[in-house]
Amino acid sequence: MARSYVREARRRVGPKRDRIVPVVERLLAEHPDATIALTFRNDLELLVSVMLSAQTTDVNVNRVTQALFEKYHAPEDYLAVPQEELEQDIFATGFYRQKAKSLRGMMTMLIEEYDGEVPESFDDLLRLPGVARKTANVVSAERGNAQGVVVDTHVRRVSQRLGFTKQEDPVKIERDLIKLVPRADWARFPHLLIWHGRRICDARKPECEVCPLALDLCPSSRVR
Ligand code: SF4
Repeated sequence: MARSYVREARRRVGPKRDRIVPVVERLLAEHPDATIALTFRNDLELLVSVMLSAQTTDVNVNRVTQALFEKYHAPEDYLAVPQEELEQDIFATGFYRQKAKSLRGMMTMLIEEYDGEVPESFDDLLRLPGVARKTANVVSAERGNAQGVVVDTHVRRVSQRLGFTKQEDPVKIERDLIKLVPRADWARFPHLLIWHGRRICDARKPECEVCPLALDLCPSSRVR
């Protein structure tokens, strides 16, 4: 019974290759304001914000960085205070000990190897302490040089519901999305799914009744 429902749903919406462009277009129309929710003024603030956003919300990070970026401007500023002081200044983002350690390691490498600037290349970003693939992806995308597709909890859930991936692991999900999403959309695609996931395709209670993908583009739609 369940299998025939899945088959019926797939037939109704068609193959994912035919759906990806209309999905992007409709989500763009629905969420024209879908951009990064972090507040930053330059590449260093972007890097720090993304790093601090691990395991917490963007709203929470913005609250912390409002004061943080008034106090710390250059990489040297993060090293000019005792580690405990930096820990206090980022305390509210959680995991503050590890994050403070990573921030100091990151700033040391920026000063010693990159003239105090945030490096351009994706591989160089990945070398920085505390910078994993997701952070490097977000930073590259915001600088107009997307090297992949950012996968967070919303991107994972909405991609699965749309039948774009069956994977659970973020790296494997990204691999599926890279093959499917046109490269020109790599940067904005995650923002569209994140905002759609927050506003309509909720984890527990998706609002298919008001979703612009429900009738012909989503195999998981509760509306038929
Ligand atoms: S139709 Fe429902 S399950 Fe599919 S994307 Fe929209 S809200 Fe999510």
